[in-house]
Amino acid sequence: MNKRKILVTSALPYANGSIHLGHLVEYIQTDIWVRFQRMRGHDIYYVCADDTHGTPIMLRAEKEGITPEALIARVHNEHLLDFTGFNIQFDNYYTTHSDETRYFSENIYTQLKAAGLIAVRGVEQLYDPLKKMFLPDRYVKGECPKCAAKDQYGDSCEVCGAAYAPTELKNPYSSVSGAEPIKKSSEHYFFSLSDDRCVNFLRRWTREEDHLQPEAANKMYEWLGDADEKKLSDWDISRDAPYFGFEVPDAPGKYFYVWLDAPVGYMGSFKNLCVRNNVDFDEYWKKDSSTELYHFIGKDILYFHALFWPAMLEHAGYRTPTKIFAHGFLTVNGEKMSKSRGTFITANSYLQQKLNPEWLRYYYAAKLNATLEDIDLNLNDFAVRVNSDLVGKFVNIASRCAGFISKRFDGQLVVGEQYQIMCSFIDEHFASWRPTTIEKAFEDRDFSVAVRQIMKFADEANEMIHELAPWEIAKDASRGDELQRICSLGIQLFYLLSRYLKPILPKTVGDIETFLDCGPLTWPELVDGQKISDMLLPAGHTIMVYKHLMTRIDIKQIDALITANKQSLATMSNSHSQTRHGEKQQHTITPIADTISIDDFSKIDLRIAKIINAEHVEGADKLLKLTLDIGAEQRTVFAGIKSAYDPEQLKGRFTVMVANLAPRKMKFGLSEGMVLAAGGGSSAKELFILSPDEGAQAGMRVK
Ligand SMILES: [Zn+2]
Repeated sequence: MNKRKILVTSALPYANGSIHLGHLVEYIQTDIWVRFQRMRGHDIYYVCADDTHGTPIMLRAEKEGITPEALIARVHNEHLLDFTGFNIQFDNYYTTHSDETRYFSENIYTQLKAAGLIAVRGVEQLYDPLKKMFLPDRYVKGECPKCAAKDQYGDSCEVCGAAYAPTELKNPYSSVSGAEPIKKSSEHYFFSLSDDRCVNFLRRWTREEDHLQPEAANKMYEWLGDADEKKLSDWDISRDAPYFGFEVPDAPGKYFYVWLDAPVGYMGSFKNLCVRNNVDFDEYWKKDSSTELYHFIGKDILYFHALFWPAMLEHAGYRTPTKIFAHGFLTVNGEKMSKSRGTFITANSYLQQKLNPEWLRYYYAAKLNATLEDIDLNLNDFAVRVNSDLVGKFVNIASRCAGFISKRFDGQLVVGEQYQIMCSFIDEHFASWRPTTIEKAFEDRDFSVAVRQIMKFADEANEMIHELAPWEIAKDASRGDELQRICSLGIQLFYLLSRYLKPILPKTVGDIETFLDCGPLTWPELVDGQKISDMLLPAGHTIMVYKHLMTRIDIKQIDALITANKQSLATMSNSHSQTRHGEKQQHTITPIADTISIDDFSKIDLRIAKIINAEHVEGADKLLKLTLDIGAEQRTVFAGIKSAYDPEQLKGRFTVMVANLAPRKMKFGLSEGMVLAAGGGSSAKELFILSPDEGAQAGMRVK
């Protein structure tokens, strides 16, 4: 086997909140992959850290009357307990508030500066004159500029979903002091991502060697634009004092913002491990390193990990990632996690309620694949699936066979001729149990495929045991050899399944290793010509007495979990983001709206409308008055499309309208619906009304 040298990271959770089941998707996904590689005998390191810097940490510590250092130390312990509770096995779980991270932040900055890729520019931001600090977007509140909803954050409106700059808020106030913020300018440091060197490098890098998943690569091409476009902008990497973080070396009072310290924590954490374990850091991080580097991340921080991070590493003289593995978000019962519904479930509460962490690991594995799709934790399905697969199928094999082996044969599996008969039987009936498919699925992060295959094998094992019915044979004292052979067969099949399930269920399979007295299970290597029987426990092997391996989920436990996580609206915080850099992504991409059901959608009565008249409205600078024929009736609609269309162009055209929108009284008359148009963003000219394909008739329902 070719021994690979691999370094793996998961995104750094922010030290300002608890780990919840949404975070755990990523850590469980990464941990399964790492354990799989480790079972195969590769050299693999899995590092992570708390992301500890920034204004939220500084302000929270102040509120609690402790130092930021004390706060992050406490949260670090909580996070580590949660991860350990879910059997996430880091080689190092460190902090970004470390000398190592400081060193690499400064080093990267210095290299970039020497390369001429650091620029200084004035930036106008909202400033709290009472607190004497610049306010991050989330600390400015006010009325939404679009819908006038009160108490909205500085970056987006939770009522209408609009995204905007904090300076656009009406009647803004600082949520730190309540004071009205003033606009103030100061010098910020930028990484010149728009420099041709970065852009050309990224055009190459995002296309080469499958660094990115296909969906992610497509997104990057979109963000990078065509060869002659300039779509990337420079990245703001500094913040002004007061700030909890690392000071920019040659700029007193300026601190590295998240981009230049959080991900550098990957390097800091690994360096810390290297020093303790005598590992060669440079072998993993030098330019053109032959080792492999993988970042597991949520899709919300793709822009950052696929553009900014590689460009920064490349031009600071380090290696770039081998691949970026992005995953989707978690929904619970088909909806966004919600504190009021009790589905915003913390890792700690799950453990407190004594739910088995391996249940969740298994369920996530059964749902995960290599794409950016969201995964859903359906709590009923969770209980049904775990009970049926793990307890009903997998553990059941051992519990049906082990008792006879212990009671009747002193724990010993068959030897000699009986062993040979058993092996031939297995090779004949279970020839498909080779590791190939499962191995490929684990390597490709298609865990759902691996789980399906393993459970198919478990079904086959159960059917065979059912057919051979050892409990019947046990009634006949003269059939001892047969009984021992059949029960040994069951134990051997259980042993094989345990090897396949070990990356997913490390604790349970640890108990199984004790029960089977077989030592730590490795990944089965079968070369051509070898048979399934070459992977078995040896002849005459003795096992220990069977003890219960896993209990069933009682639906009452799920109910209790929901109750424990229910919070009143009053105590809710709004930070749902998995990581800090996710929340503060500089280049906001308007997110796809919440998932709705088909029932929600069908509430909208969309109709083909023929524009029979279009005219200017006196005194209105944006509106056109449209008369629409929708078959059974005519409607008047005032549409804000004047900047993009001449009324004459529109007459006789077909378009799509919302026919059951509540009529709206406007200054110029009653508007009885809405026509659909795309665009309407920054430039008023970029507005496109929809047209149906030829042949559509006025009044036809659109669905
Ligand atoms: Zn709004």
